[in-house]
Amino acid sequence: MGLAFSDRSGGVSGGAFGPLNLGRTDVDDLAAVGENFERVRRVLGFGPIITLAQVHGPEVVIVDEALLAGWTERQHLGSEATGTPLQRADALVTDRTGVALCIRVADCLPVLFADASVGVVGAAHAGRVGLAAGVLTNTVATMRDLGATDIRAWLGPHICGACYEVPAAMRDEIGEQLPGAYAETSWGTPALDLGAAADRQLRDLGCVVERHSPCTRTSPDLHSHRRDGAGAGRLGAFVWLPAQSVSVLGA
Ligand SMILES: [Zn+2]
Repeated sequence: MGLAFSDRSGGVSGGAFGPLNLGRTDVDDLAAVGENFERVRRVLGFGPIITLAQVHGPEVVIVDEALLAGWTERQHLGSEATGTPLQRADALVTDRTGVALCIRVADCLPVLFADASVGVVGAAHAGRVGLAAGVLTNTVATMRDLGATDIRAWLGPHICGACYEVPAAMRDEIGEQLPGAYAETSWGTPALDLGAAADRQLRDLGCVVERHSPCTRTSPDLHSHRRDGAGAGRLGAFVWLPAQSVSVLGA
């Protein structure tokens, strides 16, 4: 099982996007975004990359043989490249090898999942709205439907609770829906901590949770919508089951 979170460096996008932009195909140079994906693929060594049109909802897509049979080479670049819209959903689950599940974010929380012993992986886009709508709960349930039992979850880079400023009424509402989310910015205003809320939700669901979650807003090497606005690129969260098992000498 492999997992990775990309940052801003190592790609070919120009301007404000940051070189390794894996989203914004509506406004960035499509050839550049395509090359960025190919560079990631060459380093990480997977085949098809499955992406979504993320809509802050609770829907989970199962990547099965039927879906892969319809996959085409540039499909992960979306409708600008293929003329065919990406599926509208916010989470992916698969038990197929060699295929990478990819979530794109810039401040929202990406979560990767795996039960490596059974061979089931998942990826979810968990911003404030999707988290409250149950996208993580649904991802875990879908993985269990495919046979997963011991699920480990990795929280990726996102805007931290000390930076994610929201109106007071929103903090009250979401804080009630999502235990752990209630927070305050480092400058003393209402905020939400998506990582803390997701951490608690996933532990309640019986997952082991690991955090690889530097703050996107305060890390210049990560894409951040709050910091860069409309010029923000997107980082990718990837999880995959390698096509061939790797044997470790001496293990
Ligand atoms: Zn922060």
